[in-house]
Amino acid sequence: MDERERTHPAFVSCPRSSSPFATNGKDKQATENKEQVSRFRPHSHAADVGIGTLDALSAEARACRVCAAVLPLGPRPVFQVSATARLLIASQAPGTRVHESGIPYTDASGARLREWLGIPESVFYDAARVAILPMGFCYPGRVPNGGDAPPRPECAPLWRARFLAAMPSLRLTLLVGLYAQDWYARAWMLGRGTMTERVRDFRNYLPRSFPLPHPSWRSLLWERKNPWFREEVLPALRREVARILSSKA
Ligand code: SF4
Repeated sequence: MDERERTHPAFVSCPRSSSPFATNGKDKQATENKEQVSRFRPHSHAADVGIGTLDALSAEARACRVCAAVLPLGPRPVFQVSATARLLIASQAPGTRVHESGIPYTDASGARLREWLGIPESVFYDAARVAILPMGFCYPGRVPNGGDAPPRPECAPLWRARFLAAMPSLRLTLLVGLYAQDWYARAWMLGRGTMTERVRDFRNYLPRSFPLPHPSWRSLLWERKNPWFREEVLPALRREVARILSSKA
């Protein structure tokens, strides 16, 4: 890990007690989060939840080599977590630029997503408030006809529920792209639908989650075909994100 990575907020796991958003052990939503994820990770346990656990889990994940044989640039897990984060961005997988930087969303998709959310980099990379956990932590390569390959299928079953159990302060999960939407649809029984249908029906997913397209260049074409996204969805998204990041309950 180089100096930029070491000092970047994306690599800092924040002690729960130091955050204005820390909650007590009786928090109902936190308990609900733990119960939800434990259904999908038989090995997870209430005792796994804690600051030390998240640091240890992050170190374990950063050392993961499960897909080493099939990753074109090798393993380099990229994510941003803390036990106090209230907003979770459930994203897809790193591209080549993110693989290079080791920091989530250091590319055009990140700039587009921040514009959608209405938050600056200083908030986006504040790990104490915002967690970024892709469905696949490492750059998966490209498919033969162009475009990035899907997230590695090994990754979410191996890591996701353990990370969610160690982040009990999460209040809102942004389901960015089809892979995240499909995983959470199964985990939280959110129902079926295309990506566009889910985004258009965003009100049905609140207050726990908010479906969004993947903010790649393709989303520019998609936005042109679906003007309601900018007119109706983005104002609601910005309100929800601001509310979650500013409230302490
Ligand atoms: S994609 Fe996930 S499972 Fe595969 S090597 Fe990276 S961290 Fe491990």
